[in-house]
Amino acid sequence: MIYVIFEKFQGWNVFLSGYIEVNRYNQTTVTLVKRFRIISETLFGDCVAVGFTYGEVSMRRRGLLHTEVFFTIYGFFIVLMIGFGVLVHQMTSRTVKEQMANKCAGIAVAVATLLEQWPDNYKEFAETLDTTSPYYRRIKALMEEIRQGNRDNIIFVYTEKRVSANEMVYVLDGEPPDAKFFSPPGDIDLMNDTRHRAYDSRQVTTGGFIDTKFGPLLSAYAPIVNKESGEFLGLVGVDVSIDQFNEVMNYMVTLIVASLGIMVLMVAALLVLSSSRIEKLITIDGLTGVFNKAFFLRSLRFQARHSKKKDEPLLVFMADLDHFKDVNDTYGHQFGDLVLTAAAKAIKACLRESDVLARYGGEEFAAFLPGMTMSNAPSVLERIRKAVEDSYVHNDELNIDIHVTVSIGAAFLEMPQTLHEILEEADKALYTAKKTRNAVVFR
Ligand code: GH3
Ligand code: MG
Ligand code: MG
Repeated sequence: MIYVIFEKFQGWNVFLSGYIEVNRYNQTTVTLVKRFRIISETLFGDCVAVGFTYGEVSMRRRGLLHTEVFFTIYGFFIVLMIGFGVLVHQMTSRTVKEQMANKCAGIAVAVATLLEQWPDNYKEFAETLDTTSPYYRRIKALMEEIRQGNRDNIIFVYTEKRVSANEMVYVLDGEPPDAKFFSPPGDIDLMNDTRHRAYDSRQVTTGGFIDTKFGPLLSAYAPIVNKESGEFLGLVGVDVSIDQFNEVMNYMVTLIVASLGIMVLMVAALLVLSSSRIEKLITIDGLTGVFNKAFFLRSLRFQARHSKKKDEPLLVFMADLDHFKDVNDTYGHQFGDLVLTAAAKAIKACLRESDVLARYGGEEFAAFLPGMTMSNAPSVLERIRKAVEDSYVHNDELNIDIHVTVSIGAAFLEMPQTLHEILEEADKALYTAKKTRNAVVFR
């Protein structure tokens, strides 16, 4: 599993931890780790530390903004959505073309069926092209009506016959004679792919958009056949213009963009919510609401490096509740939890926003206080000790206030010291404080 976690480090910095969790450490894992590291470095710049352990590989970099990561992940998503949108657009365009061609074919078949009622009259007119004949007047009016009745779906309806390998002539036309694109009987036009297929197969034929002298047209053809003799008399053609196609597509594109847009916004909201939730889950102790040990150690490692570089003091303390076992034994574990939480709250109230307080173990807390001076430290720690002493939880059953006290061991980070060493120092101080209890001891 690969996941990226944002960690907000109060006060001085914000950094990122990225993890690949692996069950087995084999060649695939190593390749994956290398790839993840390269991607991470490319995306986020230099990595301060890259750690390798069984089951977990981590990469960290200081000073990375939460938003930077957010937009990187979100950027990927948007690119994905754009790709998806293009695909949907292509599929829609194909479907719309098919639908339009089918509609044209339906109208062409209907017109052919009509003309096939009087095949001899049609044949005679197609040969003479006599526009003064009563047949022409009647049938021409009918063609115009059909065209008019379907004006939303089609642009042209006409009949035609092939006169040479490359040419055909118009026979009937649905345009009124004064219309711009009226083709009088006998008007010559060129054969195209769809026409060739229709004349060769003498079947209903549709095609895609083809450039013509009337602009790009999508056409469907139906054969006109004398049902008695089987004689082929020509084709009915029905066309759709590119403008009609674009109108439908614009409508579809608006729908696609709107629905994908809603999705993109919803994912943004989800990402914001889940990233802060994940952040909370992996950094906060569930019972007391202060940070957990893992977060404390990670952030202390960065803080220690930062403090050393800036030559600033860094106070670390460990605090352990006194005789806490007795509280549990006397009032029950549940009540003990309440007392523990109250103590955490009391300590937290004495600290600044930039200090990091964590539950280090059962009834043990640890904290570091960046920038705390040696002269101020004793009074601050004394205030913490007093705050815990003063805090209490009311026991309703016995109607008494239960108090606890705390022992605190503290140490300042000395220059060459490691993280491990400073924690050990604080722990030793705590051990000394435990000799008297309810006390503060410095190393
Ligand atoms: P000392 O003054 O020497 O620290 O005495 P203590 O009783 O506090 O120390 P000890 O280590 O003997 O016992 C710690 C107790 O803390 C034991 C355990 O039941 C309790 N404890 C640890 N975690 C929790 C917790 O989450 N909730 C509650 N209610 N009790 C806890
Ligand atoms: Mg303890
Ligand atoms: Mg204790």
